[in-house]
Amino acid sequence: MAGNLSDSLKKNISSAQLDLIQRVAGEASLLGLPIYIVGGFVRDLLLGHPGLDFDLVVEGDAIKLAGSLASRYGGRVTAHTKFGTAKWNIRESEIGNRKSEIVNRVFLDLISARSETYKYPAALPTVRMGSLADDLRRRDFTINTLAVRLDGAHFGELHDELGGFDDLKGGWVRILHPRSFVDDPTRMFRAVRYEARYRFKIAKDTRTLIPEARAYISALSPQRVRHELDLILDEPNAALMLSRLDKLGLLESVHPALHFDGSMRRRFESAKNTSNPELSNDRISNIASSNIGFRDVRWLLWLMTLSGREITSLNKRLHFTAPLLKSLLASSKLLAGLPAFAHLKPSQCVERLDALPLSSIAAVSLAAPRGEAKQALETYMLKWRHVKPKTTGHDLKNLGLEPGPQYQVILRKLRNAWLDEKIKDERGEQAFLMQLLGR
Ligand code: ATP
Ligand code: MG
Repeated sequence: MAGNLSDSLKKNISSAQLDLIQRVAGEASLLGLPIYIVGGFVRDLLLGHPGLDFDLVVEGDAIKLAGSLASRYGGRVTAHTKFGTAKWNIRESEIGNRKSEIVNRVFLDLISARSETYKYPAALPTVRMGSLADDLRRRDFTINTLAVRLDGAHFGELHDELGGFDDLKGGWVRILHPRSFVDDPTRMFRAVRYEARYRFKIAKDTRTLIPEARAYISALSPQRVRHELDLILDEPNAALMLSRLDKLGLLESVHPALHFDGSMRRRFESAKNTSNPELSNDRISNIASSNIGFRDVRWLLWLMTLSGREITSLNKRLHFTAPLLKSLLASSKLLAGLPAFAHLKPSQCVERLDALPLSSIAAVSLAAPRGEAKQALETYMLKWRHVKPKTTGHDLKNLGLEPGPQYQVILRKLRNAWLDEKIKDERGEQAFLMQLLGR
């Protein structure tokens, strides 16, 4: 035991969360099972910004504990016997029903303490039941090995088996053993993420292991690498993380076309500092189509300067989602052809832009240098794309026109005339329509 966090826990988490923790701990005590909060939650609590998410580790059978909780309070349990883990649906339980407005999670994850070994580099681990100490030794960094015990009189005991507390105080990201990065190369990306997120440093003994472990990145599946990059792009400090990955040679190890240079960094910056609040980074996912979010806009800002060929090749390594791949290719093309937009009429801009995913237009407009082309993209997003004539197909029918493809042609001409300000009001539109119909 390395101290007591009982008061800190009581002060820093909501009463609903505390109530939940105490009920789970009470049940564990009845079964004689030591139970701990382990990992990120303890780290962030000690750093003074506790999160909402916690992982529970039981020394013993977590599935049995989940079963007793469910028989006392209700709520379904999903168990993975192979890993000794259980998910308890608290939303369906008595606790969740009562406190649903404050317990803002659906499931509680209960894990049996276990040890893990790796059959070969970058393999998925082989699992065996073990003690808390075993469970801590399978983790990535010392700062993630701190545990707080919850059952009975042990409530609040801080367990620091591997020097996590000192590294947290000193600001060091340190792996637990020299083969760690080879066992799981995703940890190199995680190291960079924690380093930049907390403004820590990767310890020297850890950093020197990166060059030889880099080669094992090629053994990781597309999903695992992309997941790490996704997590990085979700972070406020993503630009700092990506430039660190670049300097450590980790981006290049994913794919030769992947890098992070000054122009990419400036795009992240300009997206943050845009003067138009309607187009700020946070608002962009509202503007962009619903299947593309903040994370994907970050991907676009990052990679829009790559060629279509490079993006296609990168997709083979990272397996982008289909909408993201489409937007990446469109952004790259739009950016390359951007100067032309300065000389087009509004209707011509709109014709080209209507064919592209809105997320690509949004991202390129954030990144484009000040000038007429950027202005055109911004005006498209805020105004032009919403312009439509007052006349409808219904009106054309009432005018005695045979329904057919000519409807689209006429309506497009009307819209273009509005866009190019040849029409300024409804009377103007009527007159223009009659002229088009030769009446
Ligand atoms: P974050 O704030 O990023 O969510 P976290 O510590 O909660 O931080 P998770 O990714 O949610 O991180 O993982 C939970 C815990 O599982 C970590 O604290 C760490 O101990 C362990 N862990 C996660 N990924 C790995 C890995 N690749 N290798 C070893 N341990 C890992
Ligand atoms: Mg977490």
